[in-house]
Amino acid sequence: MTMPICEICGMEAIKVTECSQCESKFCDECGDLKRNLCYDCVGWEDEADNESDDDVDDWNDGWDSSEPN
Ligand SMILES: [Zn+2]
Ligand SMILES: [Zn+2]
Repeated sequence: MTMPICEICGMEAIKVTECSQCESKFCDECGDLKRNLCYDCVGWEDEADNESDDDVDDWNDGWDSSEPN
């Protein structure tokens, strides 16, 4: 019996879903099965969605990580 391979984590999975964006096969831990998006594409979408919010908090983040001088 051949198990499908998740293209995101490279592990054998009981079931893989094909990403609607990049057509990668991903397991249920490597993406959003409901939206048919692999982890990479989910992250991309989330980032775009939160971009305006992220901008406001950005100074906080930059302050925490010391700048390489
Ligand atoms: Zn996986
Ligand atoms: Zn994808």
